[in-house]
Amino acid sequence: MKPIAGLTLLCTLGLIMSLTFISCKNQQPDNSQSPPVAPCDTTKRDNQIIMALLYQQRAAEYRALCLQCYNLAKLRVDAAIHDTALYKSKMPFAVITDLDETALDNSGNEAWLYNQDSAYTQKEFDYWSIHGKAGAVPGSVAFFRYADELKDKLGRKIDIYYISNRTDSIPVIDSTMGQMKSLGFPQMERPHFLFKPSAAKSSKEARRQLVAAGHTIIELLGDNLIDLTKVFDNTASDSTTRRKRVDSLTAEWGSKYIVFPNAAYGDWEEALYKNGTYSSLDKEKAMRIQDLKVYSLKTGL
Ligand SMILES: [Mg+2]
Repeated sequence: MKPIAGLTLLCTLGLIMSLTFISCKNQQPDNSQSPPVAPCDTTKRDNQIIMALLYQQRAAEYRALCLQCYNLAKLRVDAAIHDTALYKSKMPFAVITDLDETALDNSGNEAWLYNQDSAYTQKEFDYWSIHGKAGAVPGSVAFFRYADELKDKLGRKIDIYYISNRTDSIPVIDSTMGQMKSLGFPQMERPHFLFKPSAAKSSKEARRQLVAAGHTIIELLGDNLIDLTKVFDNTASDSTTRRKRVDSLTAEWGSKYIVFPNAAYGDWEEALYKNGTYSSLDKEKAMRIQDLKVYSLKTGL
């Protein structure tokens, strides 16, 4: 082979290798593992969720509110330890917390769904729970680690129970526990996870009672009022009743009950719709507008 011909061959090979490398670099990532999107939800993409998600992901005020909630939770635990009335039952103390949008941040999945022209389904959320990677709500890991290290006046640990309406299946629970362990949450043991049995309703009361059978529950944390007390069970069709019941428990907010902000979803949204049922997106939009309290020069707000 002549030197010039060899050089040409080498240059050609080099060009082919470079193009192959560039081509590989530009290949789209393998999306075969992406969560499935239920076809029926392509009518559910809702532009109104964008502001709620941006508030959760970008607003410093959201972050401050979460830290405020966990500061209150810490004050409550500290006070409970010294509250002699709480020792009457002789049972150890427990803290109950919800997971999604209370301890775990799923806003990335909601944003992904929006980009897929879709919205929440149980099937997709199960997939996300198993294969996705939720973040930690600001302040959550630090608070639960603090509570985990505390001892009551009798030298007993405080038990933390993660009561969530995630599906009560081994893959969902195992994966949730694995993700939370990597985030640094304490008490990552199976009996501390009480998820929703598939046939059960959303109420968490039966699971709270299981905890209450062996503990004095000193506080409850959640972004949805049904996370805290049965008083709000079956009220998702009536926003007026929900607000009245909140007022009847005024002394408990920021004390026994710690509520986290969630403008993206929850019973508060369901209560906007007639009979508390989700409908087509167009009908939902119309019902939202009907629910607005509009200022009037004659009647005020
Ligand atoms: Mg929640």
